Amino acid sequence: MPTKRDYYEVLGIPRNATDEEIKRAFRKLAFKYHPDHNRNGGAEEKFKEVNEAYEVLSDADKRSAYDRFGHGGAEGPFGRGFEGFDFSGFGNIFDAFFGGATGTVRRGPQRGADLTYNIAIAFEEAAFGCEKEINILRTENCSLCQGTGSRPGTKPTKCPNCNGAGQVRRVQQTIFGRFSNITTCTQCRGEGRIITDPCPQCRGTGKEKHKCRISVKIPAGVDNGTQVRLRGEGEAGERGGPPGDLYVSLTVEQHEVLTRDGDDIIYELPINFAQAALGAEIEVPTLEGKIQLKVPASSQTGGVFKLKNKGIPHLRGRGRGDQFVKLRVVTPDSLTKKQRQLLEELAETLDPTPKSP
Ligand SMILES: [Zn+2]
Ligand SMILES: [Zn+2]
Repeated sequence: MPTKRDYYEVLGIPRNATDEEIKRAFRKLAFKYHPDHNRNGGAEEKFKEVNEAYEVLSDADKRSAYDRFGHGGAEGPFGRGFEGFDFSGFGNIFDAFFGGATGTVRRGPQRGADLTYNIAIAFEEAAFGCEKEINILRTENCSLCQGTGSRPGTKPTKCPNCNGAGQVRRVQQTIFGRFSNITTCTQCRGEGRIITDPCPQCRGTGKEKHKCRISVKIPAGVDNGTQVRLRGEGEAGERGGPPGDLYVSLTVEQHEVLTRDGDDIIYELPINFAQAALGAEIEVPTLEGKIQLKVPASSQTGGVFKLKNKGIPHLRGRGRGDQFVKLRVVTPDSLTKKQRQLLEELAETLDPTPKSP
């Protein structure tokens, strides 16, 4: 039997240490030498040593036996030596005690990830809808093995480590009580099955990256930031799960002269003084081409005309918005000699203190 260090010495406590002191010393040392934190050579041995010391000193009967008989407690009153405790797997129990354990259940079918894609469309395309082709790179099920990962004609076999359960359960009697410790099977990574003859095309992953061309129908009335969802066009699912969705986000380009306010369109129409005063028929751009607008005599800057149903079609529901034409009277920034002369003549006839309309 190799020489064993004194248990009190291992925990660095006096022989008359209280239960609380024992517990505190143990936690400190167990943490220090825990194989998950401490990868130094010998840490695991130390960890076991600390656990063993605590196992004995934290139990009143075992402690008193140890105090009387030392390591030779095998001949002691409880008829069992301190040797031969199996501390293998203690790290798992330690984790369970401190909340680090993760019990995972066998994973079932899982939906594939969603994809997002952004495209820019013209103002008119947003208004009336369009169809766009986009190229995306996505993960699909392997075309050769249909996503199973196994060479066609072969099947995965039941994992011998977990017997197909995908997880391993271990019940252990520990110094903290009984622990049922469930971990994901490391051999099959929770799948429960093992691919013994992998598909040569995907090397057993069941997946392939594919470039695909997808046609996106964009409905009339979409706006900046609208997302069009294409169900099932995302990444392939796991273990037979459905594919994710593809979300196409839209950026709508600005129009040269028309601006959008919800489903209405605003257009500012510049007119000269004579058109404003005498009235005129002026060409106005709309989504569907130019139309003639009758501007009545005595129009003012800020005057608004509504072109009913010339706006953007409503994305949800029927009908469409309107177009509003706002007048702005523009003063000429230069005059010909003739124009100046005519205006001077006109000025003599006008009220020098006009009332605001
Ligand atoms: Zn394959
Ligand atoms: Zn397994």
